[in-house]
Amino acid sequence: MARYIGSVCHLCRRVGDKLMLKGGRCQTPKCTMEHKRRVKIGRGRRRRVSDRGLQLVEKQKARFSYGMMERQFRRFFAEAERQPGVTGDNLKVMLEKRLDNVVYRLGFGDSRAQARQLVLHRHITLNGRRASVPSRLVKEGDIVAVKETSMRTEYFKRVLEEIKAKTVPAWLSLDRVKLVAQVVSQPILDEASFKFDGKTIVEYYSR
Ligand code: SF4
Repeated sequence: MARYIGSVCHLCRRVGDKLMLKGGRCQTPKCTMEHKRRVKIGRGRRRRVSDRGLQLVEKQKARFSYGMMERQFRRFFAEAERQPGVTGDNLKVMLEKRLDNVVYRLGFGDSRAQARQLVLHRHITLNGRRASVPSRLVKEGDIVAVKETSMRTEYFKRVLEEIKAKTVPAWLSLDRVKLVAQVVSQPILDEASFKFDGKTIVEYYSR
């Protein structure tokens, strides 16, 4: 599966928003967007963006946040459209159910990109079996865990310490000692955790 290999900070600059693609670094003054913001203060007027341009930005924010290429994102959107209910919400639920996102939400990885690497490098199991497809969707009752042998690595020893202070969404239940989690319900949409507006993405694809 093709994927973007350029600078992720460049993606934030493209949409003019902090997408938090680099984990901890995004919270520090080293963040390119923070630097840009400081430089911009006191500078001239902003260029006016058309409605279509704004819709495109919302779609790109979603796509970049979940590290997806256009073709795959469009497939997700088409599936969300086929399901009953509000398409924008269906899309968000589907994106949240991606295995790499679940690994990220559980705090096993500092960013979705890192979570994706953990899945690709087979550190994660799904229902007791190794899972190496980041885009796989989890369902209620699924068990997501760190592979037993991976638990002995320095990386996961550090995760065990850091995870004590992390918050896990209510739709996931996590054993913070064994690093074993269960999907207890459908993803609960906490609007604050989304950097994009689902309705605007529907408008973008409806034209
Ligand atoms: Fe975006 Fe994070 Fe880079 Fe800042 S540090 S520009 S939030 S990816």
